[in-house]
Amino acid sequence: MSTKIEELARANVRALTPYQSARRLGGNGDVWLNANEYPLAVPFELSQQTLNRYPECQPALVIERYAAYAGLTKEQVLVSRGADEGIELLIRAFCEPGKDAVLFCPPTYGMYSVSAETIGVEYRTVEAGEGWQLNLPAIAEQLDGVKLVYICSPNNPTGNLVNPDDIRQLLEMTRGKALVVADEAYIEFCPQASLTGWLQAYPHLVILRTLSKAFALAGLRCGFTLANAEVIALLMKVIAPYPLSTPVADIAAQALSDHGIAIMKSHVSELVATREQLIAALQQCDCVEQVFPSETNYVLARFTASSQVFKTLWDQGIILRDQNKQPGLSGCLRISVGTREECNRAILALKTLPGASDTREQA
Ligand SMILES: *Cc1c(COP(=O)(O)O)cnc(C)c1O
Repeated sequence: MSTKIEELARANVRALTPYQSARRLGGNGDVWLNANEYPLAVPFELSQQTLNRYPECQPALVIERYAAYAGLTKEQVLVSRGADEGIELLIRAFCEPGKDAVLFCPPTYGMYSVSAETIGVEYRTVEAGEGWQLNLPAIAEQLDGVKLVYICSPNNPTGNLVNPDDIRQLLEMTRGKALVVADEAYIEFCPQASLTGWLQAYPHLVILRTLSKAFALAGLRCGFTLANAEVIALLMKVIAPYPLSTPVADIAAQALSDHGIAIMKSHVSELVATREQLIAALQQCDCVEQVFPSETNYVLARFTASSQVFKTLWDQGIILRDQNKQPGLSGCLRISVGTREECNRAILALKTLPGASDTREQA
């Protein structure tokens, strides 16, 4: 359907396929294992009653607490409407549409391409190699005109960490030319792998964080960009005047209190134990070909008949995430680690698939 109004829109917006978020994909589930959310709500109460006033652009208490949590200074922290806004702010601040490019390594998170396309900035992809690690020679060949390289570690949807020595080499080859953006949305599940300690050595390193995953606050929409003061100052030029509402800042500050962080950490250790049980149970299922190791709150697995598995569980209200269309992931589904009961329901459904073991999918 083409209307006059549609013709008025920018060409890249007309051509754009919006991000297929778990919420947009719908489903009538009661076991939601498709968005890497924490399975239970953490209760909060609003403490601010000042909604007649505009909020602070960068709420001081939130910045102070996140800086302390990350072991950085306040000048190295920017808070935004989710990490997704951080992805976009970087492109807006560093990439000239029609001239500069961003680069990332599929299979990976979908918002890097969507944000680049929305803004009208070219994106280049260099497929991940063995073990979903960086193909550094191929990246080196593609770097001309690239201003931002997004590296997701641990990577969504594969669950692996990117080899830190390779990230270091990437930082060396991009020095003075491009920023390297390490998306650490899941870093609370493997905190020892964070690159925050590298900011001092690399002025062009940027780290993305979020309260949506381990902190159980996907509905809050609050994320962080960590970088050296010079980068943060540039992002501050393009961020909206009031990116966070007062209730968001209020709850984020509570989540980042000592108590809030302790709760998050206990959730993480429980979830990691559930994840290991889920992995072990998946390995016992006839319909599962391969279960990939995970440093996160989700597990990627390859199935013998993934479309049938996806549909059968969907019809039972168990909603997984289909990763079939991503390069190298044919037959793969991503399963978020839910509560123990939710994981058990998924496993039971997999073990009782109609005609489970004799329906090999055609590749
Ligand atoms: C969930 C996710 C994000 C987005 O986080 P929000 O703070 O909810 O916008 C960013 N990167 C990756 C890799 C994610 O999985």
